[in-house]
Amino acid sequence: MNKEDILRRFFKAYFNKYTIYHSSIKSKEDNYFFLVKDDQAKHLTVIGKPEVVKKFEGLVSEEKKIEEDGLFAKVCYLNHHNLFLLRETFTYLNPSFCGLRASFGTGDRLGIATPAHLQAFQGKDVFPILAQQSVREMARTERNWQKVLDDAIWGCFEAGYEGPFGADADHVKKVEDLKEATDCGFTMFTLDPSDFIRNDIGRLNKQELDQLYNQIPNSKELEKLYLNRSYKIANQELIFDEKSLKEITLTYSEAINHVVKCYEFLKDYKKSNFDLEISVDETPTVTSPLAHLFVVLEFKRRGVNFQNLALHFLGDWQKGIEYKGDVKQFAKEFSLHAILAKTIGGYKLSLHTGSDKFSVYPIFSRETGGLCHIKTAGTSWLEEAKVIAIKDPALYREIHRFALENFEKDRASYNLTTDLSRIPNIDKLSDEQLVDLFNKPDSRQLIHITYGSILRARDNEGKYIFKDRIYKVLFQYEEDHYRELSNHIRRHLELLTCI
Ligand SMILES: [Zn+2]
Repeated sequence: MNKEDILRRFFKAYFNKYTIYHSSIKSKEDNYFFLVKDDQAKHLTVIGKPEVVKKFEGLVSEEKKIEEDGLFAKVCYLNHHNLFLLRETFTYLNPSFCGLRASFGTGDRLGIATPAHLQAFQGKDVFPILAQQSVREMARTERNWQKVLDDAIWGCFEAGYEGPFGADADHVKKVEDLKEATDCGFTMFTLDPSDFIRNDIGRLNKQELDQLYNQIPNSKELEKLYLNRSYKIANQELIFDEKSLKEITLTYSEAINHVVKCYEFLKDYKKSNFDLEISVDETPTVTSPLAHLFVVLEFKRRGVNFQNLALHFLGDWQKGIEYKGDVKQFAKEFSLHAILAKTIGGYKLSLHTGSDKFSVYPIFSRETGGLCHIKTAGTSWLEEAKVIAIKDPALYREIHRFALENFEKDRASYNLTTDLSRIPNIDKLSDEQLVDLFNKPDSRQLIHITYGSILRARDNEGKYIFKDRIYKVLFQYEEDHYRELSNHIRRHLELLTCI
């Protein structure tokens, strides 16, 4: 039986009730699997031998014998059970290890962006990390590890994608979360030890510094290893003198211990290869090249096999807008980090809050020579909100007003310089002008950081105020959604010049 034959039979059985996603059609041993949609939702369709079709969950009323040769067709749910069966049948639907290949993470807060993300990656030699969500984002979007991973895989299935991809459990602080993400099938883990990083060390006087330092159990061992040792990196010499060694040790030693503990857990618990990222980006202090050197040498010495390291790089990194700061100065300091990473070797540098940092991308990819990973997330949500503004201006206006009311509360966990008074009064904007709001930093950040409040907002009866309507509009205008989103992510990827 060929593809046309299958489609003809499917149409005959269901008339015109469903539209087929042609890219999704796959077959194995004369069983066919593909995605369809009606005017409400997407469904999986299975056509094949009755014993195969029976295993998939769906409404019995949607099961049909399609011709005399004993084949059955069934329209099934997009649920975890069915996805599990598909992943057994088509093993390329399982996420995999990335290693030192250049990679790019596309966080997807609504869980419907993967087909658009895959379009953006087409023809690019960049390993896509399609499932990527932080513990904080999951709480704000009321999702969980399994849902994040499943949504991304359904997106791969819809797009007919057979290439490799990764799944990043992002900014994980606790071993319990690592365990859960491992159980769900994540392949990459981003450890965030920021709760263990001390930010007060620079303010201590010498006596306080010495006193604290002497309490560190292995301080004498560290002195033997590092004190007055110098490292030649490019034409610079990095030296651990007494003061800098004490300060750096006190700042990072508990964090390093925490990372070692998490790594040892993963090494024992995760039975297959995994990518490990260590992120110290979410701390108030900029990571100096000397601190970078110290943490990497310590991770190596203590046997932590990591692939990515995210530092807090120089400049002002704000969500959803361009890099704020002196790009030339950034380039100068970053080049030292990049040379350091290449000199020590064996890991990539990772850029967080990578959304819309267009001026930084060429520098980042060039200096690392492609040994880089970049994370974006909020920018996909912003493109989705932009599509709402274009297609359903009335809904966008409601969301915008709600975001203004919630901004002060929601900004607390972010580093932002947003000034609401610079956002135009939307009552004075025409529907056509709303889209311009997505070109301006203040209005971008307004929508960027209030996503959790917007998605969780419920009325007195407990019904979502915006969430369901947002999904409905994006479902109805799926082509526009995918096009805007993939163009936008593509703009990011085009700037990774050395890949
Ligand atoms: Zn981060």
